[in-house]
Amino acid sequence: MEGSDVQQQLKVLRDLQRIDTHSYEARQQRQELEKELAELEREGEQVRAVVTELGDALDALENERRELARELGQERENVVKAEERLPAIKTQKEYVAVLKEVDTAKKNVRDLEQRIAGKDDEINRLAQEKQEKDEELAAQEAKVSERKGDIDEQLRQIDTALSSREDERKALFDRLPRMLGKRYQMLVDRRAGLAVVEARDGACLGCNMQLPPQSFNELFRNDEVLTCPHCNRIIYLDPETPGQA
Ligand SMILES: [Zn+2]
Repeated sequence: MEGSDVQQQLKVLRDLQRIDTHSYEARQQRQELEKELAELEREGEQVRAVVTELGDALDALENERRELARELGQERENVVKAEERLPAIKTQKEYVAVLKEVDTAKKNVRDLEQRIAGKDDEINRLAQEKQEKDEELAAQEAKVSERKGDIDEQLRQIDTALSSREDERKALFDRLPRMLGKRYQMLVDRRAGLAVVEARDGACLGCNMQLPPQSFNELFRNDEVLTCPHCNRIIYLDPETPGQA
């Protein structure tokens, strides 16, 4: 009854492989979704950083503008004060000096007015840029939160699917002889989740290499569980495949 034991074991191995292939794909999918989520969050942080930077720059410009406005007020006062002194002046020399003071203060007023106008342009430009970024950020955050909701739901479904098959998998695994179980598990871990593969037309469908003719012949005998000499995966013949078994 050796042969029938091997057939039983191969059946268990193939059932196990089916479950593990699903799990492997589900875990891959989970990884991709988590990567997407991280990428979305990273993009959000980038836009947020730009918005913060623009806000800081705007604050700095407004402080500079306030300082210029204060200076302007002072210079205007200087003009008024100097002009008030003019009627009471007695000497030509003093008159010229005060007129010069008035001129300088007026020139300062004009300079300051120009600088303030320039600041206003800068502030307007930056405020507009910030508003655009604010809108971009809001739109992106809405998009991210929606996509995040989708992804969370998908991850939840994946986890449910994964855990729902744990008992079934364990029951199958426990039916394998200990060494065979170990070998299977090692292959699943090292061969991208694929441990059990069909041999067809003389080739291993795991690595697509030709099997030595004697290996292929042994497969028909079902004396033992055989492995591909190239990739070490467990190989079987599918009785459903025409011309085999
Ligand atoms: Zn192979």
